[in-house]
Amino acid sequence: MKVTIFGTGYVGLVTGACLAEMGNHVVCVDIDAGKVERLRNGEIPIYEPGLEPIVKRNHASGQLDFTIEPAPAIAHGQVVFIAVGTPPDEDGSADLKYVLGVARTIGAHMDRYTVVVNKSTVPVGTADRVREAIASELAKRGVSVEFDVVSNPEFLKEGDAVEDCLRPDRIIIGSSSDRAIGVLRKLYAPFNRNHDRTVVMDERSAELTKYAANAMLATKISFMNEIANIAERVGADVELVRQGIGSDPRIGYHFIYPGAGYGGSCFPKDVQALERTARGVGYDARLLGAVESVNHDQKTKLFELISRHFDGQLAGKTIALWGLAFKPNTDDMREASSRNLMEALWAAGAKVRAFDPEARHETHRIYGDRGDLVLCEGAYQALDGADVLAIVTEWKAFRSPDFVRIRSLLAEPAVFDGRNLYDPAAVEEAGLAYYGIGRGRSL
Ligand code: NAD
Repeated sequence: MKVTIFGTGYVGLVTGACLAEMGNHVVCVDIDAGKVERLRNGEIPIYEPGLEPIVKRNHASGQLDFTIEPAPAIAHGQVVFIAVGTPPDEDGSADLKYVLGVARTIGAHMDRYTVVVNKSTVPVGTADRVREAIASELAKRGVSVEFDVVSNPEFLKEGDAVEDCLRPDRIIIGSSSDRAIGVLRKLYAPFNRNHDRTVVMDERSAELTKYAANAMLATKISFMNEIANIAERVGADVELVRQGIGSDPRIGYHFIYPGAGYGGSCFPKDVQALERTARGVGYDARLLGAVESVNHDQKTKLFELISRHFDGQLAGKTIALWGLAFKPNTDDMREASSRNLMEALWAAGAKVRAFDPEARHETHRIYGDRGDLVLCEGAYQALDGADVLAIVTEWKAFRSPDFVRIRSLLAEPAVFDGRNLYDPAAVEEAGLAYYGIGRGRSL
């Protein structure tokens, strides 16, 4: 099939690459000319395992192309995806300016039946607004062209995006048009060979499904962080509690890790946006508000532990950070807990020496050159001249470090384990003080 995708970010690029891999002819459109140029030269602007070979192979074979020109791209696609960002507005609700901007562009150029598929995470009712935006552009042109708008939310996880896209848990198709549903079933058939993963529903339910999924996942994290905060105060170890509750199949082990708070481009903004949606229809979503506020506080947790260790005297101290990305296997720094920690440390007069396997460039892009941040090339290099070590992202490379070496490099040997990666006894045996999240020993 001929497919066009607006937005060449984490969702658009991965979707485009995977659809091209299945034999479709895909044109990706972005307004960022630099990004398009880099992609055309075989440079992948994001770190996503497995993405580079698929993009390069399909670009070379002509299955996947990149452009900043919307008109020919719209003429190309029988199916046109919208995969642009939906950042939070000033009041926390989703800002639809990019999505509606693309919808108007589609309406301005479309000249035959097109299935417009929204993959961006958007509030309930957006499909109607996209439809109106396209129709109003067609009316301005004085033409009548048939089209359908489908809500097809994306569930890929950064760090596993290619795998998730090639083998999705489910493919939600929100539409009441049999014609559009038929087109999408055909497009997604290669992803459904093992068993049918398609769930067809109305647009509004599809739009809400995405928010419900992210809100549920964020709730699990905030719930465990709340238990960790109680554990810390009552002298229990939340890691034992986690294993104790995870063994109940109704609870399960997935996604119940306490830590330094959730970040990323999705959970914070989607929980907020769903709360604002609820408020807009006269419902006070108290649970969502609590999920957000627990997470907000949790992001200050590592700083509080470090500050308390130094009796609030952080000026002149150097803190080594392992992990900058909001989670492992990505270079994405959006809403990353490391940013809260670094900014709090800098405000208190401390310096940071940080290492992350992939997010150093992104960190430099955000913070630039500054005297109180050194981005290191290796984990142990970050410890050189540092007082203490804080673990912020649970990259596999940090799971089994040489504690004796850490002890020898730090001026004031203490480890602040923001992801509960280590056995406190093993750390202490090496002569380091251990601080974790909710491990009954931090207060
Ligand atoms: P992103 O910020 O990585 O990429 C968005 C891209 O859209 C950018 O390259 C930007 O230049 C481009 N863009 C903006 N306006 C445009 C226009 N008019 N025409 C063409 N391109 C335009 O965003 P993302 O992380 O890929 O997220 C996209 C959407 O998918 C969001 O709604 C997000 O909530 C949702 N989502 C993201 C993830 C994720 O893990 N990142 C997962 C599921 C859903």
